[in-house]
Amino acid sequence: MRMILVGPPGAGKGTQAARLITLLDIPHISTGDMLRAAVKEGTELGKQADAFMKRGDLVPDDVVIGMVIERISMEDCGSGMMLDGFPRTRPQAEALGVALEQAGLALDSVVLIEVPDGSIVSRIVGRRSDPKTGRIYHLEFDPPAEDVVDRLVQRKDDTREACVARLRKYHSETAPIIPFYDALGILRRVDGVGSPDEVTERVRAALKV
Ligand code: ADP
Ligand code: ADP
Repeated sequence: MRMILVGPPGAGKGTQAARLITLLDIPHISTGDMLRAAVKEGTELGKQADAFMKRGDLVPDDVVIGMVIERISMEDCGSGMMLDGFPRTRPQAEALGVALEQAGLALDSVVLIEVPDGSIVSRIVGRRSDPKTGRIYHLEFDPPAEDVVDRLVQRKDDTREACVARLRKYHSETAPIIPFYDALGILRRVDGVGSPDEVTERVRAALKV
């Protein structure tokens, strides 16, 4: 299965991806995770991306497209992949389409996790992750056990200000990819409000898996 998870920041893409990849046995390709790793390692790509990410801006298309094309050409993507956070602009969606077509491959589904803007800020500011396991928590909605709480970290861009900027970018830059995939007949809309378990069931129903 070749699929994309799309949705506003904090919609639950990472949370759902972690559950679905085990079920589908495909690699999880999160451009946010890849970019954060590059920033941490101090690579050339990371240096280019850092300032954009901190302000809640999108990293330029050419940087992200090159990174993703290289990643999806790897052997582990041969039988499928779950793209999370990519594409985020029309040029990214078009570049992905060209790359897949050249490889003789096609996308099966694009799952849009819908969450109203009013719920986004509280999801983002309460988000924490476990550096040891990568598990995502929420201080209120998905609280961590006491023995892990002290080691949890918060993303630098999970502030109220950067979140508002990201949400604005989502509407201006990312939302236009929705009609693009709808026209291809592969868009599946899923209500992202409810418990993570409920949302997983909706995604599974939409994908028929
Ligand atoms: P969220 O979990 O809030 O949806 P991500 O972890 O996917 O955010 O992305 C964090 C940041 O990384 C984005 O705000 C942006 O700066 C950068 N980024 C991630 N994916 C892309 C992309 N496809 N195009 C441009 N920038 C990206
Ligand atoms: P994204 O990858 O789309 O940015 P995450 O999966 O990181 O989103 O989720 C953002 C925050 O919201 C996290 O703190 C996560 O624990 C929490 N969260 C995820 N799914 C739900 C849900 N269905 N209801 C409430 N909170 C959720």
